[in-house]
Amino acid sequence: MMRIPPSAGKPLPPRKDGPDKKQPESFLGAPWQILIQVLVALLLVWLWQESLQRATVTTIPYSTFLDKLAKKEILECTITPDEILGKMAVPGTAKPGERAKPAPKTALFRTVRVEDPNLVAELQSAGTVYASVRPSLLSQLIFSWILPIGIFFLIWVGLSRWMTRGTGYSLLNIGKSRARLVAEEGTGVTFADVAGCEEAKVELQEVVDFLRSPGRYRALGAKIPKGVLLIGPPGTGKTLLARAVAGEAHVPFFSLSGSEFVEMFVGVGASRVRDLFAQAKGRAPCIIFIDEIDAIGRQRGMRIAMGHDEQEQTLNQLLVEMDGFDPNEGIILLAATNRPDILDRALLRPGRFDRHVVVDLPDAQGREAILAVHARGKPLAPTVNLSEIAHATSGFSGADLANVMNEAALLAARRKAQQIEQSDLLEALEKVVAGPERRSLRLAEAEKRRVAYHEVGHALVAAFTPGADPVRKVSIIPRGRGALGYTLQLPPAQQYLMTRTQLLAKIRCAMGGRAAEEVVYGEVSTGAENDLEVATTLARQMVCLYGMSESVGLAHLIPSRPGMPEMPGVNGRVEYSGETARLVDQEVRRLLETAYREAKAILQEERPTLEAVTAELLRKETLDAAEFFAFLPDSAKKSLTTPP
Ligand code: ADP
Ligand code: MG
Ligand code: ZN
Repeated sequence: MMRIPPSAGKPLPPRKDGPDKKQPESFLGAPWQILIQVLVALLLVWLWQESLQRATVTTIPYSTFLDKLAKKEILECTITPDEILGKMAVPGTAKPGERAKPAPKTALFRTVRVEDPNLVAELQSAGTVYASVRPSLLSQLIFSWILPIGIFFLIWVGLSRWMTRGTGYSLLNIGKSRARLVAEEGTGVTFADVAGCEEAKVELQEVVDFLRSPGRYRALGAKIPKGVLLIGPPGTGKTLLARAVAGEAHVPFFSLSGSEFVEMFVGVGASRVRDLFAQAKGRAPCIIFIDEIDAIGRQRGMRIAMGHDEQEQTLNQLLVEMDGFDPNEGIILLAATNRPDILDRALLRPGRFDRHVVVDLPDAQGREAILAVHARGKPLAPTVNLSEIAHATSGFSGADLANVMNEAALLAARRKAQQIEQSDLLEALEKVVAGPERRSLRLAEAEKRRVAYHEVGHALVAAFTPGADPVRKVSIIPRGRGALGYTLQLPPAQQYLMTRTQLLAKIRCAMGGRAAEEVVYGEVSTGAENDLEVATTLARQMVCLYGMSESVGLAHLIPSRPGMPEMPGVNGRVEYSGETARLVDQEVRRLLETAYREAKAILQEERPTLEAVTAELLRKETLDAAEFFAFLPDSAKKSLTTPP
């Protein structure tokens, strides 16, 4: 039997353990980078070996292999689980067992194994040298598990980098909190920056005291509320107050918006909550602020949109975390919402957000204080009377007032003035209410005339209607989106209630524009759409919500309008009969028609004044209160409450 020198033709079993398993020279730092380098090196070596083998080794079909075996042309072979590798004689040169004088010509071969129970018998009978190789456990592990996983990992990393280019996030960081979660050290905001919500500040002062000296509270065994919910309309300063609490107490401020929790990946919100609390615990005493908590805190089982599983999980995690720390650990949760009615009850129960602080729209005094806060650092002329502005801005939020103050400064800058004048503030006020002037919008003379009659119609009806808000300004300078002219009426003082007379007056004033068009032209235009919308809404509210219609009575009827806040138990269902609905519609129509008739009557009566004021308005484009009142008879002036 011929022995084949081990170094000669014997095809090396694939050197799966590879020669390069040493650690690569350059360390790139992170262990996984080293791992990747090793894997890449292995892959290259393996590919190289494979291709080398393929170049020198002939692949033959199994049937040929059997043929050659029968002809005793197979000199030796190695059997692996799926291949047979070996050396065969090239026909006509050498036969096993018979020493040919010239050096026998041999070739390397490989064949894919076929399930063949007789293989061993045939090998035996052919007298071939054969052996079997079992791939080592390690190489099996590397090739069937680590390598594919490594390759996929690389592809995934590359893909995720590519997909998230520019966004700053990576798929690798899913569930990790974002950069914003880095606590703000001292927000720099203090209670002095927040005005017009004194009660809220008093309530929050306790939280500040606790954060400053938790020991004092602990010593007395006093429990501080874990969660404080700030409730109020948008722009009233809830976010600002939360930051002020952190600023006053000099503690880190973790801020996160409810909508940031709600992501497209299920479970991410929950892990983000976990992360948030884990970080906060390391930094106590501190404040966690969840803005717009209604985004996650909606009542469970009451959601319409998709993704509620996610919200539910996030909310549950929040509840778990809130229960999971001791009140005296020094973490205070603040949250803000403008829709407390839709929050899950579990969030509001004692031990969670049980302290509620209402941050309401500011009253006149509060508005003045807010204006003063935002006037800081802005040079005001001596003419400026913030109290007048405060009185003229009922219903404005702190954010609106900040906006007015800033617009005034911009207007003054545009005038190249050194100081902000009262006129800048009034102009800014109009801009915020009605949008910026659009002098470039040129109206044809005829249309301009119609707009003027329309606006004066509003103003005159207001002047002759007891209980209507006094007219501050009439203008036919186009403003904002689609307003061709406007009449500015402002209540003389802060009002919390509206009487029936005042509501009816509002409806009548809204009708004034269209009435004037009909009185003057005998034909109406499309210009009154917004007025009709306002009037209809008011009339419907009077009938359905305020019990101000005799024939419908005192019932509180919730109209099933989309966009109404969901209310437990009602939720858009009409809770009254079709008969009542008909009655409501009748009443609304009656109110509107009466108001329109009255408005028309006033304008017919005052036709000469209507003409005179309109002519003046066409000349000047804007009339202020004094200019307008100059046209009115003394009887009408007396019924007016001149604004402060
Ligand atoms: P919210 O969170 O209630 O919607 P913000 O706190 O975000 O309102 O207020 C927006 C901006 O309006 C603030 O940055 C601030 O400039 C101004 N602002 C609102 N309320 C007040 C207030 N009470 N005092 C001073 N500024 C206020
Ligand atoms: Mg806010
Ligand atoms: Zn109008």
